[in-house]
Amino acid sequence: MTQEIIRVYGIFGYPVGHSLSPLLQNEAFKALGINGVYLPFEVKPGALEGAAHALRCLGMAGVNITIPHKEAIIPFLDAVEGDAALTGTVNTVLHRDGKLIGYSTDGEGFLLSLRREAGIEPRGKNIVLLGAGGAARAVAFRLAQEGAGSLYLVNRSKERAEALREDLQARLGFTAACCGFSDPELHEAAANADLVINATSLGMYPAAGEAPPFPLERCPTGCLICDLVYRPRETLWLKKARERGLPVLGGLGMLIYQGMLSCQIWTGRMPPEEPLRAALERVLDR
Ligand code: NAP
Repeated sequence: MTQEIIRVYGIFGYPVGHSLSPLLQNEAFKALGINGVYLPFEVKPGALEGAAHALRCLGMAGVNITIPHKEAIIPFLDAVEGDAALTGTVNTVLHRDGKLIGYSTDGEGFLLSLRREAGIEPRGKNIVLLGAGGAARAVAFRLAQEGAGSLYLVNRSKERAEALREDLQARLGFTAACCGFSDPELHEAAANADLVINATSLGMYPAAGEAPPFPLERCPTGCLICDLVYRPRETLWLKKARERGLPVLGGLGMLIYQGMLSCQIWTGRMPPEEPLRAALERVLDR
């Protein structure tokens, strides 16, 4: 009697205990009828090379990569494709024919959320992006590729925003501007914005009492305020924006879409959105 093989997937991060990806991906496998299991692996920074080796040796089918390994994983892969090659960050690894191939689904996940949940096309829009870490990088490259009208990069450490600005220029020929949170030009950028996106970790559980120091009061009517943070579902920043009458978009949609796209890379099939959303909302609303 032959036994059916269970395909093993997971997420490498540190810390990884609060990740919702195991719930999301196991729900996706269930919905698609795939005999797979997805587990969290707490991989400390010095252990990443060993974890990539284990992924090969154990014959795991694929993993997600999260903080702090999205850039550090690249030297241990055989190839990086698409957005991952462009941005230099990987959130999905496929193990196929003995090769590890890196992808990034964060930028596309954000774009799908913007289009499907808010009905917004970035083309021609004036956009302010808070943060210059891995998530901000993925979103900035995608917005630039989609023809954003202008892009203001705002970050605590200006050097990191400047490095992102230079990469956008060098790799896409896209000219962005950048400044710090206390620079006076931020007020003008806010006043002209169609879209403001928080891609910093400010406001993320357990520090839910924090919010980016951004002049929401300067934003024009109808300016969409987005937060990539999804825990809590409505961050303090989004609450403040909503109370000012501004439309808001939380990070849950991006989480779902980037996960659906990872699942498609591993299995060749896109899972249905609704059971995934319902499972995550149940946990987040608890
Ligand atoms: P990261 O690479 O560690 O970057 C963190 C960013 O937050 C940097 O820009 C950092 O600024 C800024 N920051 C941290 N603490 C700050 C503070 N006290 N004041 C001002 N700025 C601060 O992390 P990441 O991967 O980009 O993730 C950022 C956030 O996006 C996280 O909350 C994550 O959960 C969320 N995210 C959501 C999704 C989704 O699917 N919804 C996907 C990916 C990420 P410095 O450069 O100055 O340190």
